[in-house]
Amino acid sequence: MRFSLEKCATVEVKRGKLVEGENIRLADGREMANMKAEDRYKYLGIQQTYEIKQQENKKAAETELIRRTRKIINSQLSAKNKINAINIWAIPTFTYTAGILNWSKTDLENLDRRIRTTLTQQGMLHPNSVIERLYLPRKEGGRGLSSLEHTCLKEEKKITQYFEKNNLPLHQWIAAQRRIASTSRNIQEEDPAEKLRNKWKSKALHGRFFNSLQQPEVDMTTSNTYLKQGYLFPQTEGTLQAIQDQVVPTRTYLKHILQQQVETTKCRLCNTAEETVQHLTSGCTTIAGTKYLTRHDNMGKVVHQLICLQKELIPHFTPHHVYAPQTLKENQQFKIYWHLTIITDRRVEHNRPDMVIFDKVNKTAIIIDFAVPQDQNLTKTYTEKITKYEALAQQIRDMWKLKDARIMPLIISANGLVHRKTTQHLLELKLPQNTIMWMQKAVILGTVNIIRKTLYPH
Ligand SMILES: [Zn+2]
Repeated sequence: MRFSLEKCATVEVKRGKLVEGENIRLADGREMANMKAEDRYKYLGIQQTYEIKQQENKKAAETELIRRTRKIINSQLSAKNKINAINIWAIPTFTYTAGILNWSKTDLENLDRRIRTTLTQQGMLHPNSVIERLYLPRKEGGRGLSSLEHTCLKEEKKITQYFEKNNLPLHQWIAAQRRIASTSRNIQEEDPAEKLRNKWKSKALHGRFFNSLQQPEVDMTTSNTYLKQGYLFPQTEGTLQAIQDQVVPTRTYLKHILQQQVETTKCRLCNTAEETVQHLTSGCTTIAGTKYLTRHDNMGKVVHQLICLQKELIPHFTPHHVYAPQTLKENQQFKIYWHLTIITDRRVEHNRPDMVIFDKVNKTAIIIDFAVPQDQNLTKTYTEKITKYEALAQQIRDMWKLKDARIMPLIISANGLVHRKTTQHLLELKLPQNTIMWMQKAVILGTVNIIRKTLYPH
């Protein structure tokens, strides 16, 4: 056997204390150095001497965790990728020490808070936003960040289980030691995600969006598309969450929640309604004809272009933000109206839906109308749209002798919630899978833009 002496050292321990010893002289005359009191060696990633210096190692783990988190936050990654990078590049260096270094619950809570502060400094997380949501999976409306508290506990448990399962006396001895050390810890055995959901739900203000998400007419999977795709800028995702959490500084929020002195709680734009976040994002008459209309049309334009491509009415795809629909598109089989008044034999009150698709061969028509209501009004809006265009559908059925004339309201709330019927209708229209992503993107960017322009004009 050949010793690589530069990698070797000896330690001498007398009565539990490290003492300075002699170098060892090997048979071939070379020497193995005795470790000095200030020296450390790294074993499986942990600095050790004859014992593990807890404070020193903990400090190093913390420093590395925060260094990596900062580096990620200052990068150009998108919202979701930043969170992912923290989960797979920053947090594992830390959780690696779980079960070896003694992290108390308070230690872990403090570090979780430090990570959140870093996110807040970069505008990724509003300081008054709901914390629990940050740690829930993106597919259920969370942001998908791992919490140190949970990951460390999980890691510790895994190590303990490893020793429990092995039968060597040494393993058993360690298992017994760990049991003594961790009795105080393992009591709380509740599913961490369930605990987070319950906490989010129970909050008076933040809980409203949780409940909106759980409405039976909401397509939860599709509604969280923007979170799963994660294409938003980190700051935009942070602002959108703040809007959904209703913690943006509207006049009613300043007065009733932050208890600040404000002259009036009336809307700064229309000066008639109370200035709430719902009012600003979907109820203000002053911007109904401008900002709401743009948002609504941007969502509709996505569908118009994709339908036209599908029916071969336009030759190629144009980026959605520059696409401008023509009021009439027609070929041998199809005719598409965009915001065009339909002249009927008998006058009907509502004769200008957003879109109408005529199929001349199959003798059918589909009336499409878009809407961006408040979260709570999804069902109401859907029914209203059906009622609104019933007479028109009847008229065109008779006038053009159609086999069928259907109404398809396509609805996404100002906060991005997708009505189940919207998903269903898009399937019926056989549009590509990413249609909903583009529609939702148009809506949420519109909403964030309205709030930014109104509440943070500088
Ligand atoms: Zn208003």
